[in-house]
Amino acid sequence: MHVDFVGTCSGTEPVAGYHHVAVAIGHAGGLYWLDTGENCAYAGRISGLDLLATRAIFLTHTHMDHIGGLPHLLWTLRKLEGIAPEGMKRLQGKEVRIYTPVLQAWEGIRMMLQHTEGNFSTSFAVRGAEYNEGVIHDADGFRVTALGNTHLELQQNRFISYSLRVEAGGRTLVYSGDVRCIEEVNPLLKDADLVLMETGHHKVDDICRYFSQCRNSFGRFGLVHHGREVLADPSGALRRIRNQLGQDSFIATDGMALDV
Ligand SMILES: [Zn+2]
Repeated sequence: MHVDFVGTCSGTEPVAGYHHVAVAIGHAGGLYWLDTGENCAYAGRISGLDLLATRAIFLTHTHMDHIGGLPHLLWTLRKLEGIAPEGMKRLQGKEVRIYTPVLQAWEGIRMMLQHTEGNFSTSFAVRGAEYNEGVIHDADGFRVTALGNTHLELQQNRFISYSLRVEAGGRTLVYSGDVRCIEEVNPLLKDADLVLMETGHHKVDDICRYFSQCRNSFGRFGLVHHGREVLADPSGALRRIRNQLGQDSFIATDGMALDV
């Protein structure tokens, strides 16, 4: 898996140098998105991501810092298809699936897009899929398992916020999404090669304390979805996670990329 940190910020007001969270994973010629914060299409395109390889988009929950860039990402896919020479329309006949815990949020975005250019008719299908806990996607060697968390109140006994475990090419990545309690992500950790933990709702010291207790169950550790503590003092936060969770721990920044 190749991981691009397209945006790394939590739901703050605009902060110079950081955009809301979006993680793009390249695997076997496909591109998969974990959340789509504002600016993800622009930053992804400008940094050289192959947006037309997009196969699926996984939204952990429907807060603005996680979905704000979705309509523009889909609009950009249509634009890129539209300017491609005939015979080079790479999404033609394919489907881009949007996995969302709340289908109505997707339906609102779909309606908005329909009132943009050309009735938003596309050469490719875009389909929303509401998901619950369990394996939500398993195709082309890319598998995603969702675990509900209580970042948001349950709706009609359903989780509407999730953490995700991604398995591809024999490697495993865990993405916390937003969680109310740090330990909610625990059932996903075992044997993960990379754990990405949000800092928008938790103190760095609490994160270090919790993950150092279960340090043996996973590989590399990184912080994403930065809250104000990390934004105010990234080097201090980096020093603490490296001391407690390993020297290869990192704080993701916009534009950073790594292989898992
Ligand atoms: Zn968030």
